[in-house]
Amino acid sequence: GQCQIQGIVDDLSDCTYSAVHSLNTQHVNPVVEQLVKTAFFRFFKVNIYCDCPLWPDDSMCALRACSVCECAEDEVPAPWLAAEKAAATCKGAHTPDCSTNDCALEMEGHVNRELDPAIKQQLVRHSKGWRGLNNPWMAEGERSEEFQYINLVVNPERYTGYKGEHAHRIWSAIYNQSCFSDGVSCSEERVFYRLLSGMHASISTHLAADYLLDEQKGLWGPNLSEFKERLGTPDKLDRVQNLYFAYLFVLRAVMKAAPLLTSYDYNTGLPEEDAHTRQLITQLLANPAISESCPMPFDEGRLWKGEGAAELKAQLQATFQNITRVMDCVGCEKCKLWGKLQTLGIATALKILFSAKDCTGATPASEELPFGEELELERNEVIALVNLLGRFSHSVETYHRLTQELQREQGIQ
Ligand code: FAD
Repeated sequence: GQCQIQGIVDDLSDCTYSAVHSLNTQHVNPVVEQLVKTAFFRFFKVNIYCDCPLWPDDSMCALRACSVCECAEDEVPAPWLAAEKAAATCKGAHTPDCSTNDCALEMEGHVNRELDPAIKQQLVRHSKGWRGLNNPWMAEGERSEEFQYINLVVNPERYTGYKGEHAHRIWSAIYNQSCFSDGVSCSEERVFYRLLSGMHASISTHLAADYLLDEQKGLWGPNLSEFKERLGTPDKLDRVQNLYFAYLFVLRAVMKAAPLLTSYDYNTGLPEEDAHTRQLITQLLANPAISESCPMPFDEGRLWKGEGAAELKAQLQATFQNITRVMDCVGCEKCKLWGKLQTLGIATALKILFSAKDCTGATPASEELPFGEELELERNEVIALVNLLGRFSHSVETYHRLTQELQREQGIQ
């Protein structure tokens, strides 16, 4: 009875809002909250110091809450750094295989794990980028793009104080990329709009739930009036509905990639921790209760069917690539970090659902895909995808909690 919103989340889904809420509370959230804290999932590589390619850079947010703290080198899993060194060595030697990840993996075993920290630093900055593997939804980076490892657990997504015209310019650039919000879009465009609006609603939830209540005392907690303003009134219900939709979309992508995700190499050089990561992944993906309460979270097979589907897909890929570029213009490091992670996560979900062959070997959802195209995910894509599910899952939980608190407060008044 606590669900304000009722009915089916989307025409392309068979799940109701209340089913989503209970499956999240009982089965997804408890597991994904643990997963995102594991050594494998808490280190995200990203370039947060890049310049805005679209307009002259504005001032960066100077508030302390905006800044990100980079990882100390010895914190980053040693096998990852070793693999990067191997890849860099390969590149220098012009080995033919070096454009692939295999090179890095192959070389990993041969590299001394006790690297000199200064060399490590260099390697981290000059080897492979962070944008995933042949992901058609991500803008290309420069060839030797720099990146940093960021520990997500020590840089939580919460209130930063980034607002006003700078923040609005980003959101309007995102929504104006295409005719996403003009009300006459086709199903595919509507899906994109709902994903972005859902991500926006999730960010709003997190900043209201983890708000800087007293700067002097360093006191953080929920700010109910911020919450009410952004998501808590009936006219904002569409934002919440988009959050649920985005949650289901990502859940479907994670479930569809289950064969790949359950056999992924979760090595961080910490055997016990890695065993725990694998156990949690299995617990999440092999849970029959999830498919029982929501058999088809999102039916991607019903899209890209009409005339001109290939053109539309190419156009939406270009649009989404632009949105990933817009993220370089976010003037607050922490917002940029989570903005980039979440857009890479969405790009990964799109890649799983729309661009690659079903990894179970079943018929591809889209017929124009070349046969034999296997789904491959780069480590950073897996990390972004699972963290994105973690963020949306946390938002669905938080939305309920704060709605109840708001009702309680209003009841007392
Ligand atoms: P905004 O949230 O800026 O919204 C702008 C306009 O978009 C609204 O007026 C409304 O018309 C429309 N809108 C709002 N929500 C939705 C929705 N869900 N769907 C469709 N349309 C909508 N701030 C933080 O404190 N912490 C963060 O981690 C953070 N991360 C950010 C990441 C990115 C990528 C960006 C662009 C901004 C981030 N911000 C963050 C800033 C934050 O999102 C807001 O922009 C800021 O708090 C100002 O809020 P606002 O009430 O003016 O409306």
